[in-house]
Amino acid sequence: MSGILYLVPTPIGNLGDISRRSVEVLQSVDFIAAEDTRVSLKLLNHLEIKKPLVSYYRHNTETSGPAILDRLLAGESCALVTDAGTPAISDPGEDLVALCAGAGISVVAIPGPCALVSALAVSGLPTGRFTFEGFLAMNKKNRRRHLDSLVREERTMIFYEAPHKLCATLDDLRDTFGPERRLTLCRELTKLHEEVRRTTLGEAADWYRENPPRGEFVLVVEGCPPQKPEPPSLEEGVERVLALQAGGMRLKEAARQVAAETGLSKNELYRQAVEKA
Ligand code: SAM
Repeated sequence: MSGILYLVPTPIGNLGDISRRSVEVLQSVDFIAAEDTRVSLKLLNHLEIKKPLVSYYRHNTETSGPAILDRLLAGESCALVTDAGTPAISDPGEDLVALCAGAGISVVAIPGPCALVSALAVSGLPTGRFTFEGFLAMNKKNRRRHLDSLVREERTMIFYEAPHKLCATLDDLRDTFGPERRLTLCRELTKLHEEVRRTTLGEAADWYRENPPRGEFVLVVEGCPPQKPEPPSLEEGVERVLALQAGGMRLKEAARQVAAETGLSKNELYRQAVEKA
């Protein structure tokens, strides 16, 4: 029988955030696949867990993935961990999950720390509908295309960013969405210098230009206000009046109804409809 691939989240700063279930899984599996074995070894030593470690990171997924799959197919169980947070979320893991799912291996996600979820929850911005945008591309054309695709996005948007790229990203977000758009900047979540700054894109861009950013950031950006649908033209309104009339309604009544629906002038609708009828 095949083994199970467990996705085990690890703390994004505060070691106390590892769950009891995560520890139990790390203790029970046959081996652990880690993004950076040195980083994970520190956590495992802290938890007093000794397990064989294999490396699974962005640049060895093509060789390491199939090797892990073979072991799972042979019946071993594996815990996948990354340097911090939930595997497969802006982290290696997505490909391994797809590989295992395609081969019929059970994949079990253990819930736990994930920077985007904590940032969204604390943001004070609408959480009912949101979109996770990950990191913006460095490549100018891809970055522009990504931002352009979000101009009319009404859902709250979440971005990850590294400190040395934060200023450029804030400038681009401000230029795309406008300086007044609300932004919650979540810095160093769960760590000693945790900071949640509820501000605007314009203010944040100005602030960080003067105060060089340090630490890890999640940016939670308010969505675009819902766009009112364009009102129909008078010509379209008149067409609708005539269609209602053709359906048996009196012309005056039809003009009154279309005026109420569209905000167009009842008299003008009636006058033009009479001319066309
Ligand atoms: N898999 C991780 C997760 O579940 O959140 C994300 C890994 S991604 C490579 C790293 C990015 O996550 C950082 O650049 C930052 O944007 C965000 N991040 C991770 N830890 C954070 C923290 N403690 N505070 C704020 N942002 C954090």
